[in-house]
Amino acid sequence: MKILKIDHLGIAVNSIDEGKNFWSAILGLHFEGTETVAEQKVTTAFFPVGESEVELLESTAPDGPVAKYIEKKGQGIQHVAFRVENIEAALEELKAKGVQLIDQQPRKGAGGAKIAFLHPKATNGVLVELCER
Ligand code: ZN
Repeated sequence: MKILKIDHLGIAVNSIDEGKNFWSAILGLHFEGTETVAEQKVTTAFFPVGESEVELLESTAPDGPVAKYIEKKGQGIQHVAFRVENIEAALEELKAKGVQLIDQQPRKGAGGAKIAFLHPKATNGVLVELCER
């Protein structure tokens, strides 16, 4: 598997409107607008930082994965996303190595990326996302 870079850090927030005050107004990062991924019950906002991005995640429903995360752990870093060259090949390699996956197949993420999550049980507690753009 070829990991190209850290694509983004996913940060769970109660409100993107409130969250963007720090990331954009205070830190001065460019706010690229929001996108809702209905299937994941989440609205995302990306802020490019050099070669990587900060992704704010706001739940659109109380039973969404981001809402559940905040309920358990509070706001904060929710996942780390690595950009890979070939996500299908990466998933096959991880399966062959016995790594527990949340997504057996890639699905559509924000910005038209192909994404897949690894299970935190397999990564010492870090929710890892693979993405290919
Ligand atoms: Zn992400």
